[in-house]
Amino acid sequence: MSDLATNMEKARGYLARFGENGVAHHIAGQAVTSQAQFDTITPTDQGVLARVARGGAVEIDRAAQAARVAFPAWRDMPGAERKRLLHRIADAIEARAEEIALVEAMDTGQAIRFMSKAAVRGAENFRYFADQAVQARDGQSIYAPGQVNLTSRTPIGPVGVITPWNTPFMLSTWKIAPALAAGCTVVHKPAELSPLTASLLVEIAEEAGLPPGVWNTVHGFGEDAGRALTEHPALKAVSFVGESATGSRIMAQGAATLKRVHFELGGKNPVVVFADADLDRAADAAVFMIYSLNGERCTSSSRLLVEETVHDDFVARVAEKAAAIPVGHPLDPATVIGPLIHPEHERKVLAYFDRARDEGATIATGGEKATGGDLDAGCWVRPTLFTGARNDMAIAQEEIFGPVLTAIPFSGEEDAVRLANDVPYGLAGYLWTNDLTRALRVTEAMEAGMIWVNSENVRHLPTPFGGMKASGIGRDGGDWSFDFYMETKNVSLATGAHKITKLGG
Ligand code: NAD
Repeated sequence: MSDLATNMEKARGYLARFGENGVAHHIAGQAVTSQAQFDTITPTDQGVLARVARGGAVEIDRAAQAARVAFPAWRDMPGAERKRLLHRIADAIEARAEEIALVEAMDTGQAIRFMSKAAVRGAENFRYFADQAVQARDGQSIYAPGQVNLTSRTPIGPVGVITPWNTPFMLSTWKIAPALAAGCTVVHKPAELSPLTASLLVEIAEEAGLPPGVWNTVHGFGEDAGRALTEHPALKAVSFVGESATGSRIMAQGAATLKRVHFELGGKNPVVVFADADLDRAADAAVFMIYSLNGERCTSSSRLLVEETVHDDFVARVAEKAAAIPVGHPLDPATVIGPLIHPEHERKVLAYFDRARDEGATIATGGEKATGGDLDAGCWVRPTLFTGARNDMAIAQEEIFGPVLTAIPFSGEEDAVRLANDVPYGLAGYLWTNDLTRALRVTEAMEAGMIWVNSENVRHLPTPFGGMKASGIGRDGGDWSFDFYMETKNVSLATGAHKITKLGG
């Protein structure tokens, strides 16, 4: 049997349970159903993978109450014990990594070669934050004459986590592991387009020993379950990953209950290539950062800014590499580009191809639906490169969230920085130059929360992750995650008999 056939058979086995029982919410350690349901489809052929419970305000309230009841015991559990538990969850994720990767590849259309890594990265997220749990409450001592100040941190309370459909398993662990390590309890609302691995995740956590009610998952749509979560008074904060427009709505919805918000939003990230760079490595990295994960990735390098002296050669090289990328079934280990998440998203991406033509850009490669054989039934588009584009075109300004790259030439440093910053977003940037002082100047001027110089996106979990401008509010990673999930308290102790100010008497 080919690897594809073997993977398909295994995936069928793993998916069978969802087909038989449907997908329930998970509240206070129990599977909870709703009368309303929705279908989750596979974008490979639009077949229904499972019926999923569609929660609303009632289910969110039940979950928030469960998280409220579970909070004091979880908050007061010693950090070392929480650490042990979170490591056990990581072990359990690793043990079921194959199942997670195959189910996620079918639910999202993402290639198995990336989903296998994403499942393992989910375990790494748990391990990293497990180790931080021990010192999460630590504070500082701050000296002043006649006074010592002691700061300490305490978990903010039950929190809500709302995640998007792209790499849903890894992103859920990225938000939930630090919340649990900090001592918060959680209500999670996964994306309606890819709910399956979120339902595995909470089950795995409880099988590994997480007490019931510490982590509750409610499935459903943004406008009902999502909205109810952001408005619930028992949930003290909302950690959200998704589109910038949704972030604005969530901020408004959470205003009445003064929700603390953490937003990881959209991006239109530039890769800036100077003529002095190692152009072979730069070309491979630019190709990887836009065409891996179907380009459905917040940190994808969707704008290619190239110094004009090397622009034509460089762009031709990228076009050649893009045209050679294997497009196919997500369970085929050879596949790089699988189908986009959903027919509606595919329509959105295809509409940008028409828009690019109308606005006068040139299609160097791709620019169409990928067809032929099994591809006809699913949501595949060809890896696409636009040239002859201007930065004011929609394809250079808007987040397309597909395997679509827009190349634009620049002349000199100032022009490069102007183009890099001339978008509403500021999530990530990639810079290629062998001139160290230029790298320092340009990174200082670039408006982005994260910049990689001479590399693709290589994550190191202690470093801050997040965006500027319309790309987000707040940072994750390292201690930054705890700043969000915890309250800081200052206690000021007098060290001597300092003068008391008497008023009257
Ligand atoms: P989306 O904003 O449409 O949905 C995200 C989540 O929000 C879903 O669970 C959805 O149900 C929920 N939601 C929608 N409306 C809501 C409302 N009114 N109240 C509460 N919840 C609501 O985003 P998407 O299409 O699922 O995901 C793609 C987006 O996510 C892209 O813009 C991408 O850049 C972004 N993203 C950002 C990062 C980052 O780290 N910056 C990472 C991954 C994805």
